[in-house]
Amino acid sequence: MAGDRDCIFCKIVSGEIPSVRIAESKEACAFMDIAPIARGHILVIPRDHYETISDMPPDAVAALFRLAARIAPQAQHAVGAEGLNVLQNNGRVAGQVVGHVHVHLIPRRGGDGLHWPWPARQAASQELRQIADDVISRLTNS
Ligand code: AMP
Ligand code: ZN
Repeated sequence: MAGDRDCIFCKIVSGEIPSVRIAESKEACAFMDIAPIARGHILVIPRDHYETISDMPPDAVAALFRLAARIAPQAQHAVGAEGLNVLQNNGRVAGQVVGHVHVHLIPRRGGDGLHWPWPARQAASQELRQIADDVISRLTNS
């Protein structure tokens, strides 16, 4: 899996488009988000082009998150934040705009005004069991 000629993040990996780099590994690289939703917002991406996490081999996902996990505490401390969100969107419906896998590292502080507008609901235990069984059976057969 190599680069995609039309992908903005592949162009960042190759250096064709400039970025403010944070760190690199053999499989992944990290740079500052150009339009941060919080101070210190960083993106970590695989060097190879994959559109969603489902397209990636498990070892590539592991390598991506290894770099993200190494950077996360340093990103948080660098801006004096009290917490940090790790966010990874897959598919337009899930908020993915750039079609090259990326992990958002978003430092958080109290009163920063960011919140997830995801209302929770009570679910029947039967529904939870049914969905769990479906996922488990798919895992067994994959
Ligand atoms: P998503 O909505 O999960 O696809 O997030 C895409 C992210 O990429 C957004 O936070 C953008 O601000 C960021 N972004 C887009 N273009 C660039 C760029 N050239 N350099 C750095 N970050 C970028
Ligand atoms: Zn790409």
